[in-house]
Amino acid sequence: MGPLARPRNPEASPTPFRRPARAADPRRSSEERGWHPSAGGPHGLERAASSAPSPNASPIASPMADSASAASSDASSAALSAGGVWATPAPLRMRYDLILLDFDGTFTDVEKEADPFFASYKAEVRELIGGDVDGDWAEAVATLEQNPGEFGWVFEGQVVAPGNADPYLRATVILNMIFDRRGLYPNEAERTELLQGLYFRNYPKADTVFRANAKQVVETLLASPVPTMVVTNSATDDVEAKIDRMAPTGRERLKVYGNAKKYIVAEPDESDACFERVPETMRAEGLERDILLRRGRYYELLRTLWKETGVKPERTLVAGDIFELDLALPGHLGADVHLVLKDKTQPFERAAVKAMEGGAESPGLEGILERAGL
Ligand SMILES: [Mg+2]
Repeated sequence: MGPLARPRNPEASPTPFRRPARAADPRRSSEERGWHPSAGGPHGLERAASSAPSPNASPIASPMADSASAASSDASSAALSAGGVWATPAPLRMRYDLILLDFDGTFTDVEKEADPFFASYKAEVRELIGGDVDGDWAEAVATLEQNPGEFGWVFEGQVVAPGNADPYLRATVILNMIFDRRGLYPNEAERTELLQGLYFRNYPKADTVFRANAKQVVETLLASPVPTMVVTNSATDDVEAKIDRMAPTGRERLKVYGNAKKYIVAEPDESDACFERVPETMRAEGLERDILLRRGRYYELLRTLWKETGVKPERTLVAGDIFELDLALPGHLGADVHLVLKDKTQPFERAAVKAMEGGAESPGLEGILERAGL
């Protein structure tokens, strides 16, 4: 684990929390075992899906196009024999040839899952720095909620996601703010170790809470001819276990690719023309900082999946709950992206998705089905 950045001289001032230049995160070393993004809530379906079939048929699209075409032909024949009128044919192709889903926060309600995590985490913090921590905690939460986009999760010196995006991130960002304010644990390594210990000891206490209709949506996706896969920062085993608990029909068809490292801003080991087209940053309305796009580890996984399936980015739908982690890169690679909203979704995330040509959002998971034409 490398050094974690924080303000070098944190002020133990009683004044309101200041935005940290960088914040230590306990999951720095979690790269090896995966990491868990965020959570659930509602809004309105703002942008209708409009993914017209593209002419760049991929190898995997052909059999589906054939079967869809055959189904269409059968339906038309039936209509003809029944009434002698040429009925509107069924769509010749599916809208997508590949659907990639984030898991935590997209299919689960991490805020509800995290209640027991927060309870034990805060109890440990109280023991550590005193029973009067609740006031500071509440103030830090309020500060974070005032501008969660700017108080981000800092990884290797750069903000890679909103600090409020996920309860586990939030706990770390909050505790860093409290430590900074009180002038505690100025030693970087010591603080990092402490935060990591807190996170890893308390994470297993979190529940598994699925979003409404999660099972039904997964089953509908798995019953369709479109390959559907989970791409997550979390550990593969953890997510496999959660999906086993969900026990959807067609479970065996759902592959999970964990440890996707969507938070790492780095060049891929081997770059290519596709990645070279991705700019360094983008701006989103309502966010002061840049959004960092060149997430090479995530790209390497996406590229592998596209290579293995023979599907092009343009024929792929990527759904997730955190714009920066899940959608910013694939959207710039040409995939359509879908933001599943939650209470903690930031306005800038909605604005960013709306500004993307293939971007849309929905309050619930059904929006993914609608988007895919299922
Ligand atoms: Mg997520």
